[in-house]
Amino acid sequence: MSAELTGRLLEVMEGDILPLTRAGTEAGNKVFGAAILRKSDLSLVLAATNQETQNPLFHGEISCLNQFWGLPADSRPDPKDCLFLSTHEPCSLCLSAITWSGFDNFYYVFSYFDSRDSFNIPHDLKILEEVFACKDGHYCRENQYWTAHYLLDMVDQGTVEQQSEWRERLEKLKSHYGVMSDNYQKHKDAQDIPLN
Ligand SMILES: [Zn+2]
Repeated sequence: MSAELTGRLLEVMEGDILPLTRAGTEAGNKVFGAAILRKSDLSLVLAATNQETQNPLFHGEISCLNQFWGLPADSRPDPKDCLFLSTHEPCSLCLSAITWSGFDNFYYVFSYFDSRDSFNIPHDLKILEEVFACKDGHYCRENQYWTAHYLLDMVDQGTVEQQSEWRERLEKLKSHYGVMSDNYQKHKDAQDIPLN
């Protein structure tokens, strides 16, 4: 299951979130996205991307959760039966939103340090430190609500062949995200986003 899940999360990043985020960044939004999958068969419930040009609270995860809670109740799976995938480690707002939504897990691909150092978005780490006195992003990764999973840790669990394939796909993803991030950074001053 673990290898199947790792491959599937990469596939959702590549095929479902990336195209949405490419369009989103062209419209001036940040590079963050998210998706929800069913635990039972890893099928996609929905994918979404950041929409901060509409509302600074519409982070990738919040956009995803808003769409999820907008699904008709009879076709919306129970959050406990779902996996939550975030392209980047969720900020304090999104950690809380995932918690309030009742998910017992989330998975992320890029860390807070990637967000700060590779994507020039230092706010996740800064807000945790300034507001919550939580240094270096050391929130409780396993707690009574959920467990956080870092994709790179999952990649390390694969066979040598799997690891090499997954790392190659991650490198390609990183380069796509690098281009989208440069695009956002170049045009961000034209947008009315409080913490750009
Ligand atoms: Zn967030």
